[in-house]
Amino acid sequence: MTGTDDLLRRSAAAMARDLAEGATSSEELTRAHLARIADVDGDINAFLHVNEDDALATARDVDARRAAGEELPALAGVPVAVKDVVVTRGMPTTAGSRILEGWVPPYDATLVERLRAAGLPILGKTNMDEFAMGSSTETSAYGPTRNPWDTDRIPGGSGGGSAAAVAAFEAPLAIGTDTGGSIRQPGAVTGTVGVKPTYGSVSRYGLIAMASSLDQAGPVTRTVEDSALLHELIAGHDPRDSTSLTDPVPAFGEHARRRDVKGVRIGVIEELEGEGFAPEVRARFTESLALLEAQGAEIVRVSCPNFRYALGAYYLIMPSEASSNLAKFDGMRFGLRVVPEDHPTAESVMKATRGQGFGAEVKRRILLGTYALSAGYYDAYYGSAQKVRTLVQRDFAAAFEKVDVLASPTAPTVAFRLGEKTEDPMAMYLNDVATIPANLAGVPGISLPSGLAEEGMPAGIQFLAPAFADARLYEVGGALEALLEESWGGPLLSRITELKGASR
Ligand code: GLN
Repeated sequence: MTGTDDLLRRSAAAMARDLAEGATSSEELTRAHLARIADVDGDINAFLHVNEDDALATARDVDARRAAGEELPALAGVPVAVKDVVVTRGMPTTAGSRILEGWVPPYDATLVERLRAAGLPILGKTNMDEFAMGSSTETSAYGPTRNPWDTDRIPGGSGGGSAAAVAAFEAPLAIGTDTGGSIRQPGAVTGTVGVKPTYGSVSRYGLIAMASSLDQAGPVTRTVEDSALLHELIAGHDPRDSTSLTDPVPAFGEHARRRDVKGVRIGVIEELEGEGFAPEVRARFTESLALLEAQGAEIVRVSCPNFRYALGAYYLIMPSEASSNLAKFDGMRFGLRVVPEDHPTAESVMKATRGQGFGAEVKRRILLGTYALSAGYYDAYYGSAQKVRTLVQRDFAAAFEKVDVLASPTAPTVAFRLGEKTEDPMAMYLNDVATIPANLAGVPGISLPSGLAEEGMPAGIQFLAPAFADARLYEVGGALEALLEESWGGPLLSRITELKGASR
Protein backbone atom coordinates (compact mmCIF):
# COMPACT_ATOMS: atom_id res chain seq x y z
CA MET A 1 0.00 0.00 0.00
CA THR A 2 1.00 3.60 -0.45
CA GLY A 3 1.37 6.80 1.55
CA THR A 4 -2.39 7.38 1.62
CA ASP A 5 -2.64 4.32 3.89
CA ASP A 6 -3.43 6.28 7.00
CA LEU A 7 -6.17 8.18 5.23
CA LEU A 8 -7.78 4.99 3.93
CA ARG A 9 -7.53 2.86 7.03
CA ARG A 10 -9.28 5.14 9.48
CA SER A 11 -12.83 4.50 10.59
CA ALA A 12 -15.56 6.53 8.90
CA ALA A 13 -16.16 8.31 12.22
CA ALA A 14 -12.48 9.32 12.31
CA MET A 15 -12.64 10.46 8.68
CA ALA A 16 -15.68 12.59 9.56
CA ARG A 17 -13.75 14.17 12.43
CA ASP A 18 -10.79 14.86 10.12
CA LEU A 19 -13.13 16.55 7.68
CA ALA A 20 -14.77 18.63 10.39
CA GLU A 21 -11.37 19.75 11.66
CA GLY A 22 -10.11 20.53 8.17
CA ALA A 23 -7.32 17.92 8.40
CA THR A 24 -8.42 16.60 5.01
CA SER A 25 -11.01 17.43 2.37
CA SER A 26 -13.73 15.25 0.96
CA GLU A 27 -12.13 15.59 -2.45
CA GLU A 28 -8.79 14.30 -1.14
CA LEU A 29 -10.51 11.44 0.68
CA THR A 30 -12.64 10.51 -2.32
CA ARG A 31 -9.64 10.66 -4.69
CA ALA A 32 -7.65 8.41 -2.35
CA HIS A 33 -10.42 5.81 -2.41
CA LEU A 34 -10.82 6.01 -6.18
CA ALA A 35 -7.06 5.48 -6.51
CA ARG A 36 -7.22 2.48 -4.19
CA ILE A 37 -10.06 1.02 -6.27
CA ALA A 38 -8.00 1.50 -9.44
CA ASP A 39 -5.08 -0.16 -7.69
CA VAL A 40 -6.68 -3.30 -6.22
CA ASP A 41 -10.11 -3.87 -7.70
CA GLY A 42 -8.70 -5.83 -10.63
CA ASP A 43 -7.91 -8.50 -8.02
CA ILE A 44 -10.96 -8.06 -5.78
CA ASN A 45 -13.76 -7.29 -8.28
CA ALA A 46 -15.84 -5.60 -5.58
CA PHE A 47 -17.15 -2.93 -7.96
CA LEU A 48 -19.40 -3.38 -10.97
CA HIS A 49 -19.47 0.34 -11.65
CA VAL A 50 -17.21 3.13 -10.42
CA ASN A 51 -18.95 6.48 -10.17
CA GLU A 52 -15.90 8.69 -10.35
CA ASP A 53 -17.13 12.02 -11.75
CA ASP A 54 -20.33 12.16 -9.73
CA ALA A 55 -18.51 11.14 -6.50
CA LEU A 56 -15.92 13.89 -7.00
CA ALA A 57 -18.64 16.44 -7.77
CA THR A 58 -20.38 15.58 -4.49
CA ALA A 59 -17.06 15.79 -2.64
CA ARG A 60 -16.27 19.23 -4.02
CA ASP A 61 -19.77 20.44 -3.24
CA VAL A 62 -19.48 19.29 0.39
CA ASP A 63 -16.04 20.90 0.70
CA ALA A 64 -17.44 24.18 -0.60
CA ARG A 65 -20.41 24.07 1.76
CA ARG A 66 -18.13 23.32 4.70
CA ALA A 67 -15.83 26.17 3.73
CA ALA A 68 -18.86 28.48 3.65
CA GLY A 69 -19.57 27.54 7.27
CA GLU A 70 -22.64 25.42 6.62
CA GLU A 71 -23.65 22.95 9.36
CA LEU A 72 -23.30 19.48 7.77
CA PRO A 73 -24.56 15.99 8.71
CA ALA A 74 -22.13 13.77 10.69
CA LEU A 75 -20.88 11.68 7.76
CA ALA A 76 -20.91 14.44 5.12
CA GLY A 77 -17.98 14.02 2.75
CA VAL A 78 -17.20 10.41 3.73
CA PRO A 79 -17.48 8.16 0.64
CA VAL A 80 -19.79 5.16 0.48
CA ALA A 81 -20.28 2.16 -1.84
CA VAL A 82 -23.75 0.84 -2.65
CA LYS A 83 -24.75 -2.76 -3.40
CA ASP A 84 -25.95 -3.09 -6.97
CA VAL A 85 -29.41 -4.26 -5.91
CA VAL A 86 -30.20 -0.68 -4.87
CA VAL A 87 -31.36 1.59 -7.69
CA THR A 88 -29.34 4.71 -8.41
CA ARG A 89 -30.40 7.47 -10.78
CA GLY A 90 -28.02 7.78 -13.71
CA MET A 91 -25.86 4.85 -12.55
CA PRO A 92 -26.20 1.34 -14.02
CA THR A 93 -27.98 -1.08 -11.69
CA THR A 94 -27.79 -4.78 -12.55
CA ALA A 95 -28.45 -6.74 -9.31
CA GLY A 96 -25.59 -8.93 -10.55
CA SER A 97 -27.74 -10.17 -13.45
CA ARG A 98 -27.38 -10.19 -17.23
CA ILE A 99 -31.07 -9.49 -17.52
CA LEU A 100 -30.52 -5.95 -16.23
CA GLU A 101 -27.33 -5.26 -18.16
CA GLY A 102 -27.41 -1.71 -19.50
CA TRP A 103 -30.35 -0.59 -17.39
CA VAL A 104 -29.93 2.89 -15.92
CA PRO A 105 -32.66 3.64 -13.38
CA PRO A 106 -34.50 6.95 -13.69
CA TYR A 107 -34.77 7.34 -9.90
CA ASP A 108 -32.93 6.85 -6.62
CA ALA A 109 -33.88 4.45 -3.84
CA THR A 110 -34.91 6.34 -0.72
CA LEU A 111 -31.74 5.33 1.07
CA VAL A 112 -29.67 6.66 -1.83
CA GLU A 113 -31.58 9.95 -1.70
CA ARG A 114 -30.63 10.14 1.97
CA LEU A 115 -26.96 9.40 1.29
CA ARG A 116 -26.91 12.12 -1.36
CA ALA A 117 -28.78 14.62 0.81
CA ALA A 118 -26.26 14.03 3.61
CA GLY A 119 -23.36 14.69 1.22
CA LEU A 120 -21.79 11.22 1.00
CA PRO A 121 -19.93 10.77 -2.31
CA ILE A 122 -21.10 7.48 -3.87
CA LEU A 123 -18.01 5.61 -5.07
CA GLY A 124 -19.93 3.08 -7.13
CA LYS A 125 -22.01 -0.07 -7.18
CA THR A 126 -20.83 -3.29 -5.61
CA ASN A 127 -20.86 -6.84 -6.91
CA MET A 128 -23.30 -9.40 -5.57
CA ASP A 129 -24.82 -12.80 -6.18
CA GLU A 130 -27.42 -12.54 -8.94
CA PHE A 131 -30.56 -10.96 -7.44
CA ALA A 132 -28.97 -11.53 -4.00
CA MET A 133 -29.28 -15.31 -4.31
CA GLY A 134 -26.18 -16.92 -2.88
CA SER A 135 -23.62 -16.94 -0.10
CA SER A 136 -20.38 -16.45 -2.03
CA THR A 137 -20.93 -13.79 -4.75
CA GLU A 138 -20.15 -16.55 -7.26
CA THR A 139 -23.59 -16.43 -8.90
CA SER A 140 -22.90 -12.87 -10.12
CA ALA A 141 -23.09 -12.71 -13.91
CA TYR A 142 -20.03 -10.44 -13.78
CA GLY A 143 -17.54 -12.80 -12.16
CA PRO A 144 -16.96 -13.49 -8.47
CA THR A 145 -15.65 -11.04 -5.89
CA ARG A 146 -12.55 -12.21 -4.01
CA ASN A 147 -11.83 -12.07 -0.29
CA PRO A 148 -9.15 -9.46 0.55
CA TRP A 149 -7.74 -11.81 3.24
CA ASP A 150 -7.03 -14.43 0.58
CA THR A 151 -8.03 -13.81 -3.01
CA ASP A 152 -8.52 -17.54 -3.63
CA ARG A 153 -11.48 -17.47 -1.25
CA ILE A 154 -15.03 -16.18 -1.37
CA PRO A 155 -16.03 -12.94 0.39
CA GLY A 156 -19.43 -14.34 1.41
CA GLY A 157 -22.67 -13.39 -0.23
CA SER A 158 -24.81 -12.15 -1.51
CA GLY A 159 -23.21 -8.84 -0.55
CA GLY A 160 -19.60 -9.94 -1.05
CA GLY A 161 -18.78 -6.83 -3.06
CA SER A 162 -19.74 -4.41 -0.29
CA ALA A 163 -17.93 -6.43 2.39
CA ALA A 164 -14.78 -6.90 0.28
CA ALA A 165 -14.68 -3.20 -0.66
CA VAL A 166 -14.76 -2.24 3.01
CA ALA A 167 -12.21 -4.90 4.04
CA ALA A 168 -9.84 -3.96 1.21
CA PHE A 169 -9.97 -0.25 2.15
CA GLU A 170 -11.64 0.60 -1.16
CA ALA A 171 -14.56 2.18 0.74
CA PRO A 172 -14.95 3.13 4.40
CA LEU A 173 -18.71 2.55 4.31
CA ALA A 174 -21.03 0.41 2.22
CA ILE A 175 -24.68 -0.47 1.91
CA GLY A 176 -25.80 -4.08 1.86
CA THR A 177 -29.10 -5.94 1.90
CA ASP A 178 -29.94 -8.94 4.05
CA THR A 179 -32.74 -11.36 3.14
CA GLY A 180 -31.25 -14.37 4.90
CA GLY A 181 -27.81 -13.20 5.96
CA SER A 182 -26.31 -11.28 3.03
CA ILE A 183 -25.00 -8.45 5.21
CA ARG A 184 -23.95 -10.48 8.25
CA GLN A 185 -22.33 -13.57 6.65
CA PRO A 186 -20.09 -11.55 4.28
CA GLY A 187 -19.22 -9.43 7.33
CA ALA A 188 -18.17 -12.52 9.26
CA VAL A 189 -15.94 -13.98 6.55
CA THR A 190 -14.22 -10.68 5.67
CA GLY A 191 -13.64 -9.35 9.21
CA THR A 192 -16.08 -6.45 8.78
CA VAL A 193 -19.14 -5.29 10.70
CA GLY A 194 -22.61 -5.71 9.22
CA VAL A 195 -26.05 -4.90 10.56
CA LYS A 196 -29.45 -6.13 9.50
CA PRO A 197 -31.83 -3.60 11.03
CA THR A 198 -35.32 -4.38 12.32
CA TYR A 199 -37.59 -5.07 9.34
CA GLY A 200 -39.02 -1.71 8.28
CA SER A 201 -36.27 0.38 9.87
CA VAL A 202 -34.73 1.26 6.48
CA SER A 203 -36.99 1.95 3.51
CA ARG A 204 -37.15 -0.77 0.85
CA TYR A 205 -38.26 1.73 -1.79
CA GLY A 206 -35.84 1.33 -4.68
CA LEU A 207 -34.42 -2.01 -3.57
CA ILE A 208 -34.83 -4.60 -6.32
CA ALA A 209 -36.92 -7.04 -4.33
CA MET A 210 -35.83 -10.60 -3.75
CA ALA A 211 -38.26 -11.65 -0.98
CA SER A 212 -40.19 -8.60 0.17
CA SER A 213 -41.17 -9.91 3.61
CA LEU A 214 -37.52 -10.70 4.44
CA ASP A 215 -35.44 -8.02 2.64
CA GLN A 216 -33.81 -5.29 4.68
CA ALA A 217 -31.00 -2.88 3.78
CA GLY A 218 -28.30 -1.99 6.27
CA PRO A 219 -24.74 -0.83 6.89
CA VAL A 220 -21.45 -2.63 6.11
CA THR A 221 -18.47 -1.00 7.84
CA ARG A 222 -15.18 -1.55 9.67
CA THR A 223 -16.41 -0.52 13.14
CA VAL A 224 -19.59 -0.84 15.18
CA GLU A 225 -19.83 2.92 15.61
CA ASP A 226 -19.61 3.42 11.83
CA SER A 227 -22.51 1.02 11.33
CA ALA A 228 -24.51 2.90 13.95
CA LEU A 229 -23.87 6.24 12.23
CA LEU A 230 -24.72 4.91 8.77
CA HIS A 231 -27.85 3.17 10.10
CA GLU A 232 -28.98 6.43 11.72
CA LEU A 233 -28.57 8.20 8.39
CA ILE A 234 -30.51 5.76 6.19
CA ALA A 235 -33.28 4.82 8.66
CA GLY A 236 -36.57 6.56 9.23
CA HIS A 237 -40.09 6.65 7.92
CA ASP A 238 -40.71 6.64 4.18
CA PRO A 239 -44.29 7.01 2.95
CA ARG A 240 -43.27 5.19 -0.27
CA ASP A 241 -42.69 1.92 1.63
CA SER A 242 -45.87 0.65 3.28
CA THR A 243 -43.86 -1.47 5.74
CA SER A 244 -41.65 1.42 6.82
CA LEU A 245 -41.65 2.11 10.57
CA THR A 246 -42.95 5.42 11.85
CA ASP A 247 -40.97 5.47 15.12
CA PRO A 248 -38.26 8.10 15.56
CA VAL A 249 -34.72 6.84 14.84
CA PRO A 250 -32.60 6.49 18.01
CA ALA A 251 -29.13 8.05 18.23
CA PHE A 252 -27.42 4.72 17.47
CA GLY A 253 -23.96 6.29 17.47
CA GLU A 254 -24.30 7.20 21.14
CA HIS A 255 -25.29 3.64 21.98
CA ALA A 256 -22.25 2.32 20.12
CA ARG A 257 -19.98 4.50 22.26
CA ARG A 258 -21.60 3.58 25.58
CA ARG A 259 -19.58 0.37 26.08
CA ASP A 260 -21.31 -0.81 29.21
CA VAL A 261 -22.57 -4.37 29.40
CA LYS A 262 -23.02 -4.66 33.15
CA GLY A 263 -26.12 -6.69 33.86
CA VAL A 264 -26.91 -7.30 30.18
CA ARG A 265 -28.33 -10.78 29.77
CA ILE A 266 -26.90 -12.57 26.72
CA GLY A 267 -28.53 -15.80 25.61
CA VAL A 268 -26.45 -18.39 23.79
CA ILE A 269 -28.70 -20.18 21.31
CA GLU A 270 -28.14 -23.88 21.97
CA GLU A 271 -29.29 -24.88 18.49
CA LEU A 272 -26.69 -22.61 16.87
CA GLU A 273 -23.36 -23.42 18.36
CA GLY A 274 -22.70 -27.15 18.30
CA GLU A 275 -22.57 -29.56 15.42
CA GLY A 276 -21.79 -28.05 12.04
CA PHE A 277 -19.81 -25.11 13.42
CA ALA A 278 -16.05 -25.21 12.90
CA PRO A 279 -14.01 -25.70 16.11
CA GLU A 280 -12.04 -22.46 15.90
CA VAL A 281 -15.13 -20.46 14.95
CA ARG A 282 -16.75 -21.81 18.12
CA ALA A 283 -13.64 -21.10 20.16
CA ARG A 284 -13.59 -17.41 19.09
CA PHE A 285 -17.30 -17.23 19.93
CA THR A 286 -16.82 -18.64 23.43
CA GLU A 287 -13.82 -16.38 24.10
CA SER A 288 -15.83 -13.33 23.04
CA LEU A 289 -18.60 -14.21 25.47
CA ALA A 290 -16.04 -14.69 28.26
CA LEU A 291 -14.76 -11.14 27.66
CA LEU A 292 -18.28 -9.77 28.00
CA GLU A 293 -18.92 -11.88 31.10
CA ALA A 294 -15.80 -10.47 32.72
CA GLN A 295 -17.33 -7.01 32.24
CA GLY A 296 -20.49 -7.95 34.09
CA ALA A 297 -22.70 -9.40 31.36
CA GLU A 298 -24.69 -12.46 32.29
CA ILE A 299 -24.35 -15.39 29.90
CA VAL A 300 -27.22 -17.87 29.86
CA ARG A 301 -28.14 -20.73 27.57
CA VAL A 302 -31.46 -20.62 25.80
CA SER A 303 -33.16 -23.08 23.51
CA CYS A 304 -34.94 -22.05 20.31
CA PRO A 305 -36.09 -25.49 19.19
CA ASN A 306 -37.81 -24.37 16.01
CA PHE A 307 -34.68 -22.71 14.62
CA ARG A 308 -33.73 -26.09 13.19
CA TYR A 309 -36.62 -25.76 10.73
CA ALA A 310 -35.85 -22.15 9.82
CA LEU A 311 -33.57 -22.93 6.88
CA GLY A 312 -36.18 -25.24 5.34
CA ALA A 313 -38.96 -22.70 5.80
CA TYR A 314 -36.77 -19.94 4.35
CA TYR A 315 -36.07 -21.96 1.20
CA LEU A 316 -39.82 -22.17 0.56
CA ILE A 317 -40.87 -18.63 1.51
CA MET A 318 -37.94 -16.86 -0.16
CA PRO A 319 -38.25 -18.63 -3.57
CA SER A 320 -42.03 -18.19 -3.47
CA GLU A 321 -41.73 -14.44 -3.05
CA ALA A 322 -38.79 -14.25 -5.46
CA SER A 323 -40.63 -16.16 -8.21
CA SER A 324 -43.35 -13.55 -8.05
CA ASN A 325 -41.04 -10.52 -7.70
CA LEU A 326 -38.92 -11.63 -10.67
CA ALA A 327 -41.91 -12.02 -13.00
CA LYS A 328 -41.51 -8.36 -13.98
CA PHE A 329 -38.27 -9.11 -15.86
CA ASP A 330 -40.02 -9.92 -19.09
CA GLY A 331 -37.77 -8.40 -21.75
CA MET A 332 -40.22 -5.55 -22.27
CA ARG A 333 -39.47 -3.04 -19.55
CA PHE A 334 -35.88 -3.24 -18.31
CA GLY A 335 -32.43 -4.14 -19.60
CA LEU A 336 -31.93 -7.17 -21.81
CA ARG A 337 -34.30 -8.11 -24.64
CA VAL A 338 -33.64 -11.21 -26.70
CA VAL A 339 -35.71 -11.38 -29.89
CA PRO A 340 -35.80 -14.82 -31.49
CA GLU A 341 -35.78 -15.06 -35.29
CA ASP A 342 -38.93 -16.13 -37.15
CA HIS A 343 -42.07 -14.29 -36.14
CA PRO A 344 -41.26 -13.40 -32.54
CA THR A 345 -44.24 -13.13 -30.21
CA ALA A 346 -44.43 -11.46 -26.81
CA GLU A 347 -44.25 -14.90 -25.26
CA SER A 348 -41.23 -16.07 -27.26
CA VAL A 349 -39.34 -12.84 -26.51
CA MET A 350 -40.08 -13.26 -22.83
CA LYS A 351 -38.98 -16.88 -22.90
CA ALA A 352 -35.75 -16.16 -24.76
CA THR A 353 -34.93 -13.14 -22.59
CA ARG A 354 -35.50 -14.96 -19.31
CA GLY A 355 -33.75 -18.05 -20.64
CA GLN A 356 -30.59 -16.12 -21.47
CA GLY A 357 -30.87 -13.36 -18.90
CA PHE A 358 -31.19 -15.41 -15.70
CA GLY A 359 -28.45 -17.64 -14.32
CA ALA A 360 -28.88 -21.19 -12.98
CA GLU A 361 -29.44 -20.30 -9.31
CA VAL A 362 -32.13 -17.77 -10.16
CA LYS A 363 -33.89 -20.30 -12.39
CA ARG A 364 -33.66 -22.92 -9.65
CA ARG A 365 -35.38 -20.60 -7.19
CA ILE A 366 -38.07 -19.49 -9.64
CA LEU A 367 -38.87 -23.16 -10.24
CA LEU A 368 -38.89 -23.95 -6.51
CA GLY A 369 -41.09 -20.97 -5.73
CA THR A 370 -43.53 -21.55 -8.55
CA TYR A 371 -43.87 -25.17 -7.45
CA ALA A 372 -44.36 -24.30 -3.78
CA LEU A 373 -47.09 -21.83 -4.69
CA SER A 374 -48.93 -24.03 -7.20
CA ALA A 375 -52.53 -24.96 -6.42
CA GLY A 376 -52.03 -28.55 -5.31
CA TYR A 377 -48.95 -27.85 -3.19
CA TYR A 378 -49.59 -24.47 -1.63
CA ASP A 379 -50.81 -25.82 1.74
CA ALA A 380 -48.19 -28.55 1.94
CA TYR A 381 -45.20 -26.29 1.20
CA TYR A 382 -45.78 -22.55 1.35
CA GLY A 383 -48.52 -22.86 3.99
CA SER A 384 -46.41 -25.14 6.22
CA ALA A 385 -43.41 -22.84 5.86
CA GLN A 386 -45.49 -19.89 7.06
CA LYS A 387 -46.50 -21.91 10.13
CA VAL A 388 -42.84 -22.63 10.86
CA ARG A 389 -42.18 -18.90 10.50
CA THR A 390 -44.71 -18.26 13.28
CA LEU A 391 -43.01 -20.88 15.47
CA VAL A 392 -39.62 -19.22 14.93
CA GLN A 393 -41.15 -15.87 15.94
CA ARG A 394 -42.54 -17.52 19.11
CA ASP A 395 -39.11 -18.95 19.95
CA PHE A 396 -37.68 -15.43 19.75
CA ALA A 397 -40.49 -14.02 21.88
CA ALA A 398 -39.96 -16.68 24.55
CA ALA A 399 -36.18 -16.21 24.52
CA PHE A 400 -36.43 -12.43 24.82
CA GLU A 401 -38.47 -12.83 27.98
CA LYS A 402 -35.34 -14.27 29.56
CA VAL A 403 -32.52 -12.34 27.89
CA ASP A 404 -31.77 -8.92 26.38
CA VAL A 405 -29.90 -10.19 23.33
CA LEU A 406 -29.18 -13.57 21.76
CA ALA A 407 -25.78 -14.66 20.46
CA SER A 408 -24.34 -17.23 18.04
CA PRO A 409 -21.44 -17.51 15.62
CA THR A 410 -22.53 -15.65 12.46
CA ALA A 411 -21.53 -18.33 9.97
CA PRO A 412 -20.57 -21.98 10.54
CA THR A 413 -17.14 -21.74 8.92
CA VAL A 414 -14.54 -19.28 7.71
CA ALA A 415 -14.48 -18.30 4.01
CA PHE A 416 -14.19 -21.33 1.75
CA ARG A 417 -12.33 -21.47 -1.55
CA LEU A 418 -13.84 -20.24 -4.79
CA GLY A 419 -15.61 -23.07 -6.57
CA GLU A 420 -15.71 -25.28 -3.48
CA LYS A 421 -19.49 -25.23 -3.08
CA THR A 422 -20.79 -24.10 -6.46
CA GLU A 423 -21.92 -27.62 -7.42
CA ASP A 424 -23.73 -28.26 -4.16
CA PRO A 425 -26.64 -25.88 -3.47
CA MET A 426 -27.43 -27.48 -0.08
CA ALA A 427 -23.88 -26.90 1.18
CA MET A 428 -24.16 -23.31 -0.01
CA TYR A 429 -27.54 -22.80 1.68
CA LEU A 430 -26.20 -24.06 5.02
CA ASN A 431 -23.98 -20.96 5.32
CA ASP A 432 -27.02 -19.04 6.50
CA VAL A 433 -28.25 -21.45 9.13
CA ALA A 434 -27.54 -18.93 11.90
CA THR A 435 -28.61 -15.75 10.13
CA ILE A 436 -31.97 -16.78 8.61
CA PRO A 437 -34.09 -16.92 11.82
CA ALA A 438 -33.74 -13.14 12.27
CA ASN A 439 -35.17 -12.47 8.79
CA LEU A 440 -38.09 -14.83 9.37
CA ALA A 441 -38.94 -12.92 12.56
CA GLY A 442 -38.03 -9.41 11.38
CA VAL A 443 -35.65 -8.88 14.32
CA PRO A 444 -32.36 -6.98 14.03
CA GLY A 445 -28.90 -8.56 14.03
CA ILE A 446 -25.27 -7.44 14.01
CA SER A 447 -22.16 -9.39 13.03
CA LEU A 448 -18.72 -8.28 14.11
CA PRO A 449 -15.31 -9.95 13.92
CA SER A 450 -14.55 -12.37 16.77
CA GLY A 451 -10.97 -13.11 15.69
CA LEU A 452 -9.05 -15.32 13.32
CA ALA A 453 -10.12 -18.94 13.10
CA GLU A 454 -9.33 -21.86 10.75
CA GLU A 455 -6.46 -21.17 8.34
CA GLY A 456 -5.97 -17.67 9.70
CA MET A 457 -9.27 -16.44 8.27
CA PRO A 458 -11.69 -14.17 10.16
CA ALA A 459 -14.78 -15.41 11.99
CA GLY A 460 -17.82 -13.47 13.17
CA ILE A 461 -20.07 -13.31 16.20
CA GLN A 462 -23.72 -12.38 15.83
CA PHE A 463 -26.04 -10.67 18.31
CA LEU A 464 -29.80 -10.53 17.82
CA ALA A 465 -32.23 -8.22 19.64
CA PRO A 466 -36.01 -7.90 19.79
CA ALA A 467 -37.65 -5.88 17.01
CA PHE A 468 -37.14 -2.12 17.51
CA ALA A 469 -34.29 -2.73 19.98
CA ASP A 470 -31.48 -2.28 17.42
CA ALA A 471 -29.77 0.11 19.85
CA ARG A 472 -28.94 -2.84 22.12
CA LEU A 473 -26.90 -4.39 19.32
CA TYR A 474 -24.76 -1.29 19.10
CA GLU A 475 -24.23 -1.28 22.87
CA VAL A 476 -23.18 -4.91 23.12
CA GLY A 477 -21.32 -4.85 19.79
CA GLY A 478 -19.46 -1.65 20.64
CA ALA A 479 -18.44 -3.04 24.02
CA LEU A 480 -17.20 -6.34 22.61
CA GLU A 481 -15.33 -4.65 19.78
CA ALA A 482 -13.42 -2.48 22.25
CA LEU A 483 -12.53 -5.49 24.42
CA LEU A 484 -11.39 -7.57 21.45
CA GLU A 485 -9.33 -4.79 19.89
CA GLU A 486 -7.62 -4.28 23.22
CA SER A 487 -6.72 -7.98 23.29
CA TRP A 488 -5.53 -7.91 19.65
CA GLY A 489 -3.68 -4.63 20.02
CA GLY A 490 -5.71 -2.96 17.23
CA PRO A 491 -8.41 -3.67 14.68
CA LEU A 492 -8.42 -7.12 13.09
CA LEU A 493 -8.40 -5.59 9.60
CA SER A 494 -5.08 -3.87 10.29
CA ARG A 495 -3.57 -7.34 9.67
CA ILE A 496 -4.32 -6.96 5.97
CA THR A 497 -1.13 -5.34 4.79
CA GLU A 498 -1.17 -6.67 1.27
CA LEU A 499 -3.52 -8.81 -0.76
CA LYS A 500 -2.62 -12.50 -0.73
CA GLY A 501 -3.60 -15.39 -2.98
CA ALA A 502 -2.53 -17.25 -6.07
CA SER A 503 -4.78 -15.06 -8.18
CA ARG A 504 -2.95 -11.96 -6.99
N1 GLN B 1 -27.53 -16.65 1.14
C1 GLN B 1 -28.95 -16.52 1.29
C2 GLN B 1 -29.63 -16.87 0.02
O1 GLN B 1 -28.97 -17.31 -0.85
C3 GLN B 1 -29.30 -15.13 1.73
C4 GLN B 1 -29.24 -14.15 0.64
C5 GLN B 1 -29.58 -12.77 1.08
O2 GLN B 1 -29.62 -12.45 2.27
N2 GLN B 1 -29.85 -11.94 0.12
O3 GLN B 1 -30.80 -16.74 -0.14
